Amino acid sequence: MAMKLAGQKMLLAGDWVEREDKIDVWDPQKNERIESVPAASREDVERAIKLAREGAPIAANLSVRERMDILNKAASLVEENHEDFARTIAAEGVKTINEARSETTRAIETLRLSAEEARRLTGESINFDQMPGNEDRMGYYFRFPVGVVAAITPFNDPLNLVAHKLGPAVAAGNAVIIKPATETPLSALKLADAFMKAGLPKKVLTVITGRSRDIGDSLIESKDINMISFTGGYETGEKISKKAGLKKLSMELGSNSPFIVCKDADLKQAAAAASSGAFAAAGQNCLSVQRIYVEEDVYSSFKDLFLKYVREVRTGDKMLESTDMGPLINEKEARRIEEWVEEAKNSGAAVLTGGQREGALFQPTVLENVPENAPIVKEEIFGPVVLLFKVEHLDEALTRSNDVNYGLQAGIFTNNVNSALKAAKSLHVGGVMINDSSDFRIDAMPFGGVKGSGLGREGVAFAIKEMSEERIVCFKMTEE
Ligand code: NAP
Repeated sequence: MAMKLAGQKMLLAGDWVEREDKIDVWDPQKNERIESVPAASREDVERAIKLAREGAPIAANLSVRERMDILNKAASLVEENHEDFARTIAAEGVKTINEARSETTRAIETLRLSAEEARRLTGESINFDQMPGNEDRMGYYFRFPVGVVAAITPFNDPLNLVAHKLGPAVAAGNAVIIKPATETPLSALKLADAFMKAGLPKKVLTVITGRSRDIGDSLIESKDINMISFTGGYETGEKISKKAGLKKLSMELGSNSPFIVCKDADLKQAAAAASSGAFAAAGQNCLSVQRIYVEEDVYSSFKDLFLKYVREVRTGDKMLESTDMGPLINEKEARRIEEWVEEAKNSGAAVLTGGQREGALFQPTVLENVPENAPIVKEEIFGPVVLLFKVEHLDEALTRSNDVNYGLQAGIFTNNVNSALKAAKSLHVGGVMINDSSDFRIDAMPFGGVKGSGLGREGVAFAIKEMSEERIVCFKMTEE
């Protein structure tokens, strides 16, 4: 099957539509326009919501077998067009071609997992007779879809993060309206095309391309949307929560992940993991390693090893297999990173490597001696910059790791089981990776954060639960 995009169109309730008003899609590396998509209006959103309401019962009435068949077929279509999807991700976004290929492989897995988990969307029987006076009652609960899910996604994983919303939403029997990031709408449109070709009925899916400032409020404030599944930055998440009113919310937000190196750790492995965890997708990853706390006995040995790995990260043309790290999403973002690094330098930080910008590319950068309360420590950098801190002992590393308003995942390298257990117990995060970087993830695990990192959990089975609700059924037996 040729996976050509249906021109410069968006998917409105199963129909591909054009609009005169367009949004250009840019390749940030070449600073070159690669495509344009419709700039949706408020009226488009209203229409999409109206049709999605009609689509909700259609989606709910798909049998589990039909949902599984659609999800598996969509996965196979992505697989058959693997390279095409990877090139789209790399062209419109920040990933190198190698990173984009991995994302495509993960998206296929996400869809297949969604198909698998659809058959496990079950309830259980309830023993009503545990309360005296209810001996003649029996029953069970089952799960039913929430209705219409609005899914808002960021630019950094333009395919797999869309699959993480669309797969579970279809598995749970919902209609979905996806609003991808304005910078990277093409991967989402391609995925939607695969779903339509896989037999998803009309009205069940919309992928609306439009700027949040034009269409965001009409989508999130609508009383006809039952759930908002958002992945993006903390500030956006907070704004959406305030405006959403009484509806289900799932918030997958950012972080400034800690990475702890204990004196008993395998330093070489720790240094390699920290480098890959900090510079994958040029640091534009919610799980990126940002703050590295190293016990003082091994600080200088770790630092030497780490800098060796960082200096080996090859920047350059993201379409080449020999390139390890691509650009920031645009030059404005690269300038922001430059300013943050300058600010840190002015407050006493030393640049151990990197620090230079060229267009949208920022060199892999390591800072030390950054004051504890500097914004670059407390906020999310979301770029290729990592901070090194010397600590006296594990307790100090744990306290400082927790002393921020984020808590998505953390990594710790240690060969001492007690240190690992202590970290697992005391880090305020959604996931603790032992002898791995904070950015380790598989698509089947529960994924999400605490504090400013979000609400609820994704990871296919967990997202399906969030996108469905329990309905209790109770039978009272009567005398004939
Ligand atoms: P963003 O600026 O928050 O945008 C994310 C999405 O929200 C985009 O589709 C954007 O649309 C939309 N949006 C922005 N303002 C809105 C509003 N007022 N109402 C409705 N929608 C609105 O984030 P980003 O820069 O694309 O992505 C980076 C952030 O995402 C980082 O903080 C990162 O950590 C986080 N992230 C979290 C996870 C996770 O799973 N926890 C995964 C990946 C990324 P427009 O593009 O049209 O503005």
